[in-house]
Amino acid sequence: MITPQGIVCSKAIVSAGDPVLRNPAAPVGPELFGTRELRALVEEMVAAMRAAPGVGLAAPQLGVGLRVIVLEDSSERMSHLSAQEKAERARAEVPLTAIINPVLRPQMSEGQPGEIYFEGCLSVPGYTALVPRVHTVEVDGLSLEGEELHLRASGWPARILQHECDHLDGVLYVDRMLSRSLCTTEQARTRWSGRSLSELAAAFRLR
Ligand code: ZN
Repeated sequence: MITPQGIVCSKAIVSAGDPVLRNPAAPVGPELFGTRELRALVEEMVAAMRAAPGVGLAAPQLGVGLRVIVLEDSSERMSHLSAQEKAERARAEVPLTAIINPVLRPQMSEGQPGEIYFEGCLSVPGYTALVPRVHTVEVDGLSLEGEELHLRASGWPARILQHECDHLDGVLYVDRMLSRSLCTTEQARTRWSGRSLSELAAAFRLR
């Protein structure tokens, strides 16, 4: 929430059903760059992302309708994955990054590893589904201080960027998922961990 007193974060991650997750978020205005308020918002987002734990978070998930995302993934977080799973997700480490007013440009690419994989959302707890994503994206944005940022990412980091930028437009992964693949995270862990994408497609009878 943005008030005359500053930015007020939710104490907990907002879950699906709250309109803040469906409304387009507003760009961060020039007056906020380099301020304590914006830095505090990003610190709250990073803390909430790490506590969950998750690999990305958008400001609307803390009830703040501003175009701010954070992402981070580490080798420890993916240590439970087999080499095949890492390859199929095209999973790679992502250093802690905060992007203000990101503009995402999908790059054309088809048939690359990681284009369809399980995805979940801290605002839709307990579920996961296969979501098709573009393999490579470019993102332009600004740092906390208002400096220009340019990123090019492929595979897993590109998936995180697409997921978080969607949040800023009021879009959730459930809007893009292959709905027949929707599972509880528990079912996905016990049944589908270590299975190949073609096995999953057959099991879910994806067309
Ligand atoms: Zn999400």
